[in-house]
Amino acid sequence: MTTVIPQPAGTASSTSSERALPVELVKRLAARAVAGGAPSVEVAAPATGSKIVDLPQSSIEDIDKAFATARIAQREWAARPIGERTAIFKRFHDLILSEQSEILDILQIETGKARTHAFDEVGDVAINARYYANASKSLLESRGRNGLLLFLTQVNEIKRPKGVVTIISPWNCPLALSASDAIPALIAGNAVISRPDNQTALTALWANELAERAGLPAGVWQVVLGRGSNIGGELISRADYVDYTGSTATGRHIAAQAASRLIGYSLELGGKNPMLVLADADIKKSAEGAIRACFSSAGQLCESMERIYVHTEAYDAFVKAFLAEVAKMELGADLAYNSDMGSLTFDRQLTAVSAHVEDARAKGATVLAGGKARPELGPYFYEPTVLADVTPEMSVYRDETFGPVVSIYRVDSDAEAIEQANDTSYGLNACIFTRDTSRGRTIAAQLNSGAVNINEGFIAAWGSVDAPSGGLGDSGTGRRHGSEGILKYVDSQTIAAQHLLPVAPLPGMSDETWASTMTFALRAMRFLGVK
Ligand code: NAD
Repeated sequence: MTTVIPQPAGTASSTSSERALPVELVKRLAARAVAGGAPSVEVAAPATGSKIVDLPQSSIEDIDKAFATARIAQREWAARPIGERTAIFKRFHDLILSEQSEILDILQIETGKARTHAFDEVGDVAINARYYANASKSLLESRGRNGLLLFLTQVNEIKRPKGVVTIISPWNCPLALSASDAIPALIAGNAVISRPDNQTALTALWANELAERAGLPAGVWQVVLGRGSNIGGELISRADYVDYTGSTATGRHIAAQAASRLIGYSLELGGKNPMLVLADADIKKSAEGAIRACFSSAGQLCESMERIYVHTEAYDAFVKAFLAEVAKMELGADLAYNSDMGSLTFDRQLTAVSAHVEDARAKGATVLAGGKARPELGPYFYEPTVLADVTPEMSVYRDETFGPVVSIYRVDSDAEAIEQANDTSYGLNACIFTRDTSRGRTIAAQLNSGAVNINEGFIAAWGSVDAPSGGLGDSGTGRRHGSEGILKYVDSQTIAAQHLLPVAPLPGMSDETWASTMTFALRAMRFLGVK
């Protein structure tokens, strides 16, 4: 049975001219990039197909220039007191909230996503700015450490910025994944060179401009532009640390390049995230939660749920309630809060999503809802799609779709749900719907996933930025958010001062006496529980 998605009111009420960005704004933002030495590329709006900008591209000389500027700017920036650095990001927080309408328009036009999902990114950046502005001082300050010899060896650990951090970010959450990762790197005293995806470069450039309006000195955060396959290696070969968000395949490549230079890296990669609906779940909340979990940003979210395991006792009621919610969804990318889901961002996303659904359909899957493109709404719109009877030989069973497609499976027990959920090489995000939170926690601990949300799809864990976020297995290595999300951008330096006596035999003492004195001292320290 195929559920027909109603014609969206939102798209009907907006014209393409209302969706265009002011020419002056586009020109001003494009001119901010350290670029122009390589031929520009045309970028089009996914929801309409109309041209947004001829985007300048960075040559090797542009990249050299950006790094040279960054190295000079970083020294002055790192020398500033931490309070000055955090104050800038408190102002940035306030500005992004007060000027959100402009960035929401840019984000929507570049990605095709619905305004409500664009707002999620504004909220994400504000939360990260507030968190790191408030938490960084204590995370970065010098710490006393226990010395080798009690009272005689005084040790301090200080945190030194890495230097110049390169952030390579994808197109699906261009504000969150460029600005929110840059904030802790900058507060830690680094310069940042961002390489946003060409499709969504104006969003990153807008955030970069806003940071300077908030007081960030010029040159500390710069943006270069180019295809990752063209300039990614050039950036990694000059950087002191690389932060990459994107597919697992590219992540492996980045890791090899960073490893060959012995620089640190953080990789936030793909997922095939499972949702578990337990027998005792609140059906209405689970169905509504599944909509957010599966179809936010048209499923083009690394955190999106692509598999739902429903206990047999809840299965029929859940499927009915979920399909009813799907049928209510309105598609559109008008620049207002009228739509529940927007467009896919590229032709290749539409091709990949359609291929997964057609492969599943051809091999016997049942399409419970959606299952087709909606070209009358815009070139890359695709319906929210729910599949059942999916089997391991279908590509949608194991491969990440990265679109609005979810498969539902019936399970007979919690143990079966856990086993199926863990049957993946990924481990980014999972969620569990249950009325019994402590049972949910027990099951969560058995899921191989960097985050598990209980009674929410992803936003509870993702938005709780005091806690680390990142993947297990093929979903990546390294963490954003929390102390891990800033300490990755610094090196620890240990400074040990020896007082009064050397760590060596006293004058006239034989090595043998020294060894037995030390043996006595070591035993005493063990007895006293000295750390
Ligand atoms: P992709 O790896 O093809 O491209 C992502 C970005 O990397 C693009 O901007 C691209 O220009 C760049 N890139 C490509 N080759 C490169 C190279 N050799 N060097 C440097 N950069 C290079 O991935 P995609 O399909 O465009 O993006 C979607 C993927 O990103 C999905 O797998 C999704 O799960 C993942 N993702 C993960 C997270 C996370 O936080 N874990 C967040 C968003 C997206």
